[in-house]
Amino acid sequence: MHNSGLASQYTRRYNNSMALEEYKRKRRFEDTPEPPAKVATKPGHRFVVQMHRASRLHYDFRLELDGVLLSWAVPKGPSLDPADKRLAMQVEDHPVSYFDFEGNIPENNYGAGSVMVWDVGQWQPLSPVQVEGKYVPANDQEARAMIKKGDLKFRLEGERLKGDFALIKMRGRRAGSKGNEWLLIKKHDQNEVEGFDIDQYDSSVLTQRSMDEIAGDNASAEWRSRPAGRGKVKAPWLADAIEKLDQKKAAERKSASSTASSAKAKPKSKKSASSDGQPSAKAEPIDIRASLHAEKKTKKTRLKSA
Ligand code: MN
Repeated sequence: MHNSGLASQYTRRYNNSMALEEYKRKRRFEDTPEPPAKVATKPGHRFVVQMHRASRLHYDFRLELDGVLLSWAVPKGPSLDPADKRLAMQVEDHPVSYFDFEGNIPENNYGAGSVMVWDVGQWQPLSPVQVEGKYVPANDQEARAMIKKGDLKFRLEGERLKGDFALIKMRGRRAGSKGNEWLLIKKHDQNEVEGFDIDQYDSSVLTQRSMDEIAGDNASAEWRSRPAGRGKVKAPWLADAIEKLDQKKAAERKSASSTASSAKAKPKSKKSASSDGQPSAKAEPIDIRASLHAEKKTKKTRLKSA
């Protein structure tokens, strides 16, 4: 998609027949459990973050506006640490009914793999400039203008993500840039968490299931998100370990080719405290909130839902 096309679609509401065309074009709805391409008429400001274990693990960050979900794929996922600048590649708008989609996209389909609803809540556009030292709520028209400009400030009220954020469009600084690259950055406020570690949250906020549990929900016990031709791994724990290794390699490749991050990803164990490939300069004692540990413990004792 061209830059100019992306920009112009935010100058007015999505009330035309072209909305969600790209979403529709990429999918075969007779074969995928994903929702159909339908523009919603009810206004809303929900957001969802979906953990997506496709050929590469990533997190899809989606903001509801004008009857669709504006969507960005975030390889390392969102962070509550303002020191993290997370690459977020804008992808095709999704229908709002994608908001609670969790499950498995069968192999040989676009985005094949498992999808977990990692966070949900409400979002609020914020004023482009501060008023008396604070960002104040803005309206949808201002939100569209900020998106067009490539500098969207907003507040999240989710279960895991809270506080003020910015999505800032990168402007052709890198060779081979596709023009869809943004950065997702937490702003400083009372909700920031130094050393935020997204790997502490391997559970759905809707069903409390882990990614492995979601992947195992198929009638066939086969783990479907591993690309065909690379061998089938039957044991979920082994598949998980291999996938984590794949992710680490991918992160290292990305880190090596990125001008944004200079340091190499640290080696990590399966459940190490800091394992999302952050530069080692951040090796301060990690201040993970007690609630994260509590959540993780309760998750393990829960039974898999049917
Ligand atoms: Mn995705």
